[in-house]
Amino acid sequence: MIRTVLGDLRPDALGVCDSHDHLFFRSAALPGQELDDEAAALAEVRAFADSGGQAIVQWTPHGLNRRAELLPGISSSTGVSIVAATGLHRREHYPDGFVDKVQDQLAEIFVRELTAGIGDSQVRAGLIKVAGGFHVLDAHAELVMHAAAEAHHATNAPIAVHHELGSAADAVLDLLVDKLDVHPGAVILGHLNRFPDHRVQLELARRGAWLAFDGPSRANNATDPRMMDCLAALIDAGYTDRLLLGGDTTTARARAATGEGPGMPYLLTHLKPRITQYFGADVADAVFRNNPARAFTTDWRG
Ligand SMILES: [Zn+2]
Repeated sequence: MIRTVLGDLRPDALGVCDSHDHLFFRSAALPGQELDDEAAALAEVRAFADSGGQAIVQWTPHGLNRRAELLPGISSSTGVSIVAATGLHRREHYPDGFVDKVQDQLAEIFVRELTAGIGDSQVRAGLIKVAGGFHVLDAHAELVMHAAAEAHHATNAPIAVHHELGSAADAVLDLLVDKLDVHPGAVILGHLNRFPDHRVQLELARRGAWLAFDGPSRANNATDPRMMDCLAALIDAGYTDRLLLGGDTTTARARAATGEGPGMPYLLTHLKPRITQYFGADVADAVFRNNPARAFTTDWRG
């Protein structure tokens, strides 16, 4: 099953999916660009649905303004399935003192949000978001990943990883998979397009993890033009069944419906047709439909 904000869903009912995005997000590192507006979130999901979208996985973790209580209403009024996250981001995204207050109870918080609900809501998270550091895993990343592995073993929920500028994904697999015994099929490696090194990405795919690409992104535009080449190398090597794609809209300005774009619909109006053109409809179907249905399930062992 896939744990959505409206309850558990059979994977084959998920449909066309944006595998990494944000409806609500507030970071101390991005002042003035909060995603906090319910009407704007609803308009963006409607625009995504109008482009053929059926599911969105929100990677906003604990403490960054997920607005979990609003997600069921947005999902039911648009018909778009939404998966919410627990987990913890890098320290700089939080106000001073926040991380110190929660860092000793992370596994407990993650399990509670996956099984009972986020905050006072009954809305349960369906994945655990964590974050690495730039080319290395710092003490904060290690602490959060240990807690994520513990929560994963208690719930089977998948772990989705933010990589700082796309780096240190190999160190993440060394820790989560080799040391903490998380099945690589339950690990979703994000932002890999920000470090467009084919050899690194082929090795990550060989190790059995999911490779999630995202964008285009205003902040990381320099690597956006390399994404198709990265996908081509992985597809040519036989790893179509490891690939995911998301929009990763993290600022109000980047929204399509109420900002300057490109926003969530771009994934389906621009990237999906290009992927179909270059690699075929079967590859597009895998990336947008079949792979997310397997990656975000809690029975990933099958
Ligand atoms: Zn993100």
